[in-house]
Amino acid sequence: MSNFIKIPSQVPATQKIEWAVNTLSKFCVLPWLNLNTNPDGKIKLCCSINLDTFVSDVNAVPYNLGRHDIEDIWNSIYMRYVRERTRHDIPVSDCSGCYNIEKLSGHSPRKGQNDMWIFKKSTDDALATDIGLSLDRQYIADQTLTRLPISLELRLGNQCNLQCCSCWAMSSSLIHAERTNYLSNESMTTPKLIWLKSKWEAERKQVEQTDVSEWFETDMFYSNFKKMAPTLRRLYTTGGEPTLIKSNYKMFEMLLAANNITCGIEFTSNMTAWNPSFYQNLEKFKNVEIQMSIDGIDKIGEYIRYPSNFEKVKENVTRAVELASVRPGWKIKCYTVLQALNFKHIEPIWELLNGLARKYDQHIDWWPITLSAPEFLSLAAVKKDIRMAYIDELSVIGEKYRPYSELFTINIDTFSAYKDSIVNATFNPLYHEQLLSYMEFNDAQRSLPGAELFKDVLQ
Ligand code: SF4
Repeated sequence: MSNFIKIPSQVPATQKIEWAVNTLSKFCVLPWLNLNTNPDGKIKLCCSINLDTFVSDVNAVPYNLGRHDIEDIWNSIYMRYVRERTRHDIPVSDCSGCYNIEKLSGHSPRKGQNDMWIFKKSTDDALATDIGLSLDRQYIADQTLTRLPISLELRLGNQCNLQCCSCWAMSSSLIHAERTNYLSNESMTTPKLIWLKSKWEAERKQVEQTDVSEWFETDMFYSNFKKMAPTLRRLYTTGGEPTLIKSNYKMFEMLLAANNITCGIEFTSNMTAWNPSFYQNLEKFKNVEIQMSIDGIDKIGEYIRYPSNFEKVKENVTRAVELASVRPGWKIKCYTVLQALNFKHIEPIWELLNGLARKYDQHIDWWPITLSAPEFLSLAAVKKDIRMAYIDELSVIGEKYRPYSELFTINIDTFSAYKDSIVNATFNPLYHEQLLSYMEFNDAQRSLPGAELFKDVLQ
């Protein structure tokens, strides 16, 4: 490698990551500490990498966390190649998404992750030294890292108890069953549903050609996890619905058996079920982040996140906030997938969270995730004049929540992310037509009143 860069020896181990972040424009800490899986166990550097770009062997065959040894994966030629490039400030083609966003906005997951791990190590001396040594002294002549990943982001298959409108069969076993049924019982024969039928047919084939149920229960998966358990600092798990997935219980037990109660546990839940043994295990960990997905309140939430019962969701959200409120290392975050059906119905979510934050004296963060797929549910499917007519009202609502409470505040960045998504989406008449035909079909099949509930955005 021509432009070899070496971290100066006088930089202390605990400061090496800062040196790399401040000196190297392409440096990312993730290839040094993290692995991420798809629902089928194939591995990526992180969740920002394209769905089909994997950590692969010399023959370009993707590794699988349930089929291959973690030591072979972690020090594979792919991982060593990526780490060498980031360490010498050379772009990694698989990370081009990050570089492109940086050019546009100055922000990127790369920058966010670098900042997050610098912050994490500021309160954790062992972590600070570990990262520093990995970047330098432990990184020996043959370029192998002597310690295993300390962060895992696992998408464990598609077992789920919901059939959300915006979801797909690779992420929900029930959606797979429902859409397979529609495709086989001739309920999608009208010409205006041809586009949806071909989309769901492709999805069905993809699930049936993919292992979304076994790889995370293999002996190899558990053997890999056992090797990482003693030193793991972060375990992010999602599904499907993680509280239903057996492997999560086993991983918690393995971490506890390794006496690793400080490993940060993060998970995303639809909050429709409260599984006592899941939360009993969780209570043994000091650092937990419960990421709640809430896309709407009452009938709006129940339509989008079919077939949920919002009273039950509210009860579970309340229990989670109460649980976190007496555990100093626990955090509550709430994410809303911003889409055509809910962009005018966010305030009641804030109202609920704000009330709980004040009642339990517990800080709660809220963040919108702008939906990009399926396109027919995106904001681009709603006519621009309808979206713009809501902006004045929204500005008043935003002001109300900005100074409302230290425990729940919609700051200017969060508000801009929400508002800009509504304003900036370019209306697409095809998506609009598709939205109308999807809603008509969905209402008929599920016996739901979507046409009435969302009449103001379906015009
Ligand atoms: S540079 Fe971006 S895409 Fe690459 S590993 Fe880091 S966060 Fe992920």
